[in-house]
Amino acid sequence: MNKLQQVYEATDVGLVRQGNEDNLAVLPNVNVYAVADGMGGEAAGEVASQMLVDSVRQLLTGQAVVREADLCQAILLANRAIRQYVLENPGCEGMGTTATLLHIDEQSDHGSWAHVGDSRLYVLRRDSQILEQITQDHSYVEDLVRQGTITREEAQNHPQRNMLTRAVGAMENLQVDSGKLTVNAGDIFLLATDGLMKHVTDAAIVRLLRENHENPAKVLVNAALADGGTDNVTAVVVSLT
Ligand code: CA
Repeated sequence: MNKLQQVYEATDVGLVRQGNEDNLAVLPNVNVYAVADGMGGEAAGEVASQMLVDSVRQLLTGQAVVREADLCQAILLANRAIRQYVLENPGCEGMGTTATLLHIDEQSDHGSWAHVGDSRLYVLRRDSQILEQITQDHSYVEDLVRQGTITREEAQNHPQRNMLTRAVGAMENLQVDSGKLTVNAGDIFLLATDGLMKHVTDAAIVRLLRENHENPAKVLVNAALADGGTDNVTAVVVSLT
């Protein structure tokens, strides 16, 4: 089945930060979408997330067939590039980025994803009111939640909630999560950096995605800003019709 994809994107520096360390990639010719949330002092975070989206474009633009393994390769390519950059710029020690990638196969009923860090991929299925989180955060608080040490609500305001256990550029042997998913007309996919989830609840995201907006990604970003916009915030919405 051939599906029409409507893609919306938005990113904002927020109301507190000086620079926007988030980046996004939309590659309509291969139906690949990505968000990245950089970290590191000075401009290092911006460089890291830019290197991630550059690697995605370099490896996947013009590719006849995009497979799950190709998404992982793009992340690993960025991992090597960032580590090389740090070798050449020792002041940038500690720089890295999250990476959340989605590919929709237009000719079939499936897609694939690859992921490192605490940005997220969600799906809102046709006729559902439940936002399903596909990716798992690679963060210290997520580990504590899984161990049962703290609740999901406590994780929201935990002082170490920004501490990642995995990041692109942070380790030589980077383990990339990936998977396949079914894709149906009416599904809405959302890729977002944590600047959105810090401020907008799942229920509010569902409500805003179900409303008829010219740019739903921009509406989500604006909702985060309206709640304080303490972080950079980025959203890519892929709506299948
Ligand atoms: Ca962030």
